Amino acid sequence: MKFVSTRDASQLFSLGEALFSGYAPDGGLLVPQWLPQVDEATLQKWSQLDYLDLSVEVLYPFVQDDMSRNELHELLEMALKGFDTDLKNLVPVVPMSLEGNNEAPNIFIAELFHGPTFCFKDFGLRVTIQWLNFFATRRNASVTLIVSTTGDTGPAAVQAVQDCNSSSRLGVLVHFPKGQISDFQRKQLTTATSTRVKIVAFQGGGDDMDVPIKNIIMTSKSIHTNDKNRVVCGVNSYNIGRPLMQMVHFVWTYLRVAERRKRDHPSENLQLDIVVPTGAMGNLAGCYMAKKMGVPLGILCAGVNINDITDVVFRTGKLERNIDQQLKKTLSDAINIQLPYNMERLLFYLTEQDHDQIRDWYSQLEGPGRFCDISTSNRWWSKLKSEFQSARVTDEELCEAMRSTLHQYGYWADPHTCVALAAAKKLGYWNEKSNPVAIMATAAPCKFQEAMTKALGVEKWQEYERLHFPTRGKILNEMKEIPTTVYASDATKTLAENQRDWEAKARELIEQFS
Ligand SMILES: *Cc1c(COP(=O)(O)O)cnc(C)c1O
Repeated sequence: MKFVSTRDASQLFSLGEALFSGYAPDGGLLVPQWLPQVDEATLQKWSQLDYLDLSVEVLYPFVQDDMSRNELHELLEMALKGFDTDLKNLVPVVPMSLEGNNEAPNIFIAELFHGPTFCFKDFGLRVTIQWLNFFATRRNASVTLIVSTTGDTGPAAVQAVQDCNSSSRLGVLVHFPKGQISDFQRKQLTTATSTRVKIVAFQGGGDDMDVPIKNIIMTSKSIHTNDKNRVVCGVNSYNIGRPLMQMVHFVWTYLRVAERRKRDHPSENLQLDIVVPTGAMGNLAGCYMAKKMGVPLGILCAGVNINDITDVVFRTGKLERNIDQQLKKTLSDAINIQLPYNMERLLFYLTEQDHDQIRDWYSQLEGPGRFCDISTSNRWWSKLKSEFQSARVTDEELCEAMRSTLHQYGYWADPHTCVALAAAKKLGYWNEKSNPVAIMATAAPCKFQEAMTKALGVEKWQEYERLHFPTRGKILNEMKEIPTTVYASDATKTLAENQRDWEAKARELIEQFS
């Protein structure tokens, strides 16, 4: 399998090249040249596999030019270590049904948060980083990973780097928006002692480091020129490794729901709708790719907070690059976003892989007009409306969803999962007659004390701490925080000027990795 840019089919990249370059050289995102197709017989076979073996089956077609099946198996085994669930049930898919209701459940929660850092991002990042380590070792290169985080990417990347073998020559530089991540997430970053890890707090909003990072990556040396110097590589979800691995949990969820529903509906041809709390849209992109491979998924729904660009695009077809707008603080800060990178992959698959259409839309969006309008194309606009839905969720609605889910089902959901729960409710799924639907639970409540307390009250939070707080998480409180580097924001300067200063600072820090 080769990889191509969403904006141009002519230049082919190997898996290694695609992973190391992050963005395509033309500024587009990399995608596999084609998607393998799965049929019912294959799904039947896959339904017997544990998570590791399923991951091997789903991913092997994408990597087979570059590594053997055994190497992939070994690599995934390393990546899937440190979860608190068993490989047989790494992602529990929990049916939600009201007590006393004997009908087959149609609402399911897929718990993606049992990994080492309590977030679904462990899947994509741990595998992507193992892949990078594999190819860096093969080429005897040193690599600095550069990351911007709204709270969960950073800890997952740091942990994944620390869990690479001791001969690894990977380092990681993480940027988080100061004061806009939870105490737990900050501690996950600031207690890392490895010399392979550097942490920076910047005085800006969620994705304000995206532009500096894109500039750094696009001008970095290529690992493929046989230059053995340190190269820089981005692992936010523009990196194709992330959505590739994230396809697996949608296949898994489909199989578990199908298995459960067969008991009551033996002849059902299940088509499963999905609701995802959505930020940069990497998770939803993985979901759509799984659907395009032939997994019987139905309508894909994005739950977003009041930073609602995705909802605006899905409702109006209008995509705007609003660079000077400030992100609004929410109880679901990990999905605060100005411009979701993976919208580009989503539109690419929506248009049945029409590179010219994507190049056209994105040159309008990245040009001085900062705007493109998908609704002017009848064909793609009606397809978008038939395949996707969205709902915008306020903090009040998030809190209400958290309380009612706990009250009705005894289920503790984190604030981001609650955005999806509230979205599902708004979209009409929250009743016993709706289409079968799976809601993606993307993080564990232990990461979000402040938001959980706001929604549930102190007593409920204390109950959670006493009865459900993961032991692995408690250790953080006893660890010492190391002060971080800060990139200040100068109020007399524009965002773009501050971003130029931050870019220069990040370049200095990269030089300091040995
Ligand atoms: C990152 C994140 C999301 C959003 O995922 P995207 O792939 O960026 O859309 C949702 N929930 C949590 C808890 C996250 O950390």
